[in-house]
Amino acid sequence: MRESDLKYFSEILKTRVLQIKKNIESSAKDYDEINSYEIRDEGDYALVSADSLIDVSITKQQKKELEEIDYALSKIKDGTYGTCEMCEELIGMQRLKVKPHAKYCIVCREIIEKQQKKG
Ligand SMILES: [Zn+2]
Repeated sequence: MRESDLKYFSEILKTRVLQIKKNIESSAKDYDEINSYEIRDEGDYALVSADSLIDVSITKQQKKELEEIDYALSKIKDGTYGTCEMCEELIGMQRLKVKPHAKYCIVCREIIEKQQKKG
C-alpha cells in the first residue's frame, strides 16, 4: 500500500477512535444519571435496567471496536496493514473504505461468518 493511502486510513482510524471514546464517555454519563434517579416502584426499575443493559452492550461493542482499531493502527506501523490475515491477499481499497479496521478480505470474511453460524 502506498504511503499516502496508509496516511489516509490512519487518519480515518484515529478520527474513529476519538468518536468512539466520546460515545463511551457520554453513555457513561447517562448511566450515572440513570443510577441517580429516584426509583418509585418495580415497574420503573425494570424500565431503567433494560435501558442501562442496552447501554452496557453498546459500550462493550464500542470497546471491542476500539481494540480492533488499535490493532489496525499497529499494523499500519509495522507495514502489514491492508493484507488479509487468512489468505495474505490485499484486502482492497473499497472494503477498507467501508471498514478500515478489517482484518480479512471479503472472501475470507464470508468463510469465517459461515463457520460461526454453524457454531
Ligand atoms: Zn483473505
